[in-house]
Amino acid sequence: MPNSFLDHARQTLQSIEDDGLLKRERLISGPQGKKVDVAGRRMLNLCANNYLGLADNPEIIAAARDGLDRYGFGMASVRFICGTLDLHRELEKAIARYLGKDDAILFAACFDANGALFETLLTAEDAIVSDSLNHASIIDGVRLSKAKRYRYDTGDMEALEEQLKQAVADGARFRLIATDGVFSMDGYIAKLPEICALAEKYGAMVMVDDCHATGHLGPQGRGTPALTGTQDRVDIVTGTFGKTLGGAMGGFIAAAQPITDLLRQRARPYLFSNALSPSVTAGSLKALELAEGADDLRRQLMRNTQRFRAALGQEGFELLPGETPIIPVMLGEAHLAQRLAAALDDRGVYVAGFFYPVVPKGKARIRTQMSAALDDADVDLAVAAFVDAGREIGVI
Ligand SMILES: *Cc1c(COP(=O)(O)O)cnc(C)c1O
Repeated sequence: MPNSFLDHARQTLQSIEDDGLLKRERLISGPQGKKVDVAGRRMLNLCANNYLGLADNPEIIAAARDGLDRYGFGMASVRFICGTLDLHRELEKAIARYLGKDDAILFAACFDANGALFETLLTAEDAIVSDSLNHASIIDGVRLSKAKRYRYDTGDMEALEEQLKQAVADGARFRLIATDGVFSMDGYIAKLPEICALAEKYGAMVMVDDCHATGHLGPQGRGTPALTGTQDRVDIVTGTFGKTLGGAMGGFIAAAQPITDLLRQRARPYLFSNALSPSVTAGSLKALELAEGADDLRRQLMRNTQRFRAALGQEGFELLPGETPIIPVMLGEAHLAQRLAAALDDRGVYVAGFFYPVVPKGKARIRTQMSAALDDADVDLAVAAFVDAGREIGVI
């Protein structure tokens, strides 16, 4: 290897650091939960996607262990050669039934599911109309496909309609609208009734990536389509087992039978990548079963969300409006977000600051996420830490 490449890599790293954008991973030594052990300190955790608190659930751990005992550690095969367990099909059928779709197909991650979807289903004759704030995996998935691309600003339904008109005018054979169900940086819920109405008007299909909703939003946690009454109008749902549903890993696409059948034949991240491990599959099945019946946890999550939101608002923090457990505390400048995150860290509260390029310049924030694992006292403790730290930094 020429030394010049290593110099180049070092310089790039240095410029990332100089811009204040270097991400440092902190080591957690123990399970993901309402508190985590970080460098020997117990920290209150406000930044996991552990919405129902299932990541360290004993029933899920027992189910995963049982999967391990009965099926061994790994499959060492892709699904179509000798890697399909009865467990995989059980999980696919369970998630499909939960979301009201004919069938589902598993992937190693939702990143792969979104990477598979567009390229497999659409060709250069077709069009994808995509929200500007969609997750990176949708953006990459759209890039992999040859379909024509159209973009609209988040939540701007006039812009969506313009783009649909344009796609029709350009002669696209099939049109697909792609949107996150919940936008992860802002916590906004997609306007699915309006999106579906426009889809119907312009003969388009609708795909929703519901990673930040499946399991905790909507009736029985069935996600944003169920929450907004559009379950029968949304054609394709992609999602993850790596957040609410136990938080291990694994993604899926749920849709009508011919769509999942076609994906099974052609989706490259499915055909050329290893099957989900038995313990993850068995644990995720249990997580799904628990999530469906977890109205008590969803109530607690909602209660925490409202309590935290209301208290921070009263104390003078600038929040983005919303109703999901994603509560972004807006700071504006990156250095303020970093300083507040550090001051919260000093007070035993674990949060993550987000700044450019993850969010636009001048929109730096601390994205907090509520969990059903927290109780009132935990939420109050978090608020007190925010107030104390916020005063120290001078943001309230
Ligand atoms: C987390 C997330 C993904 C990726 O899911 P993984 O299963 O972790 O790969 C995809 N889309 C959205 C909207 C997400 O929030």
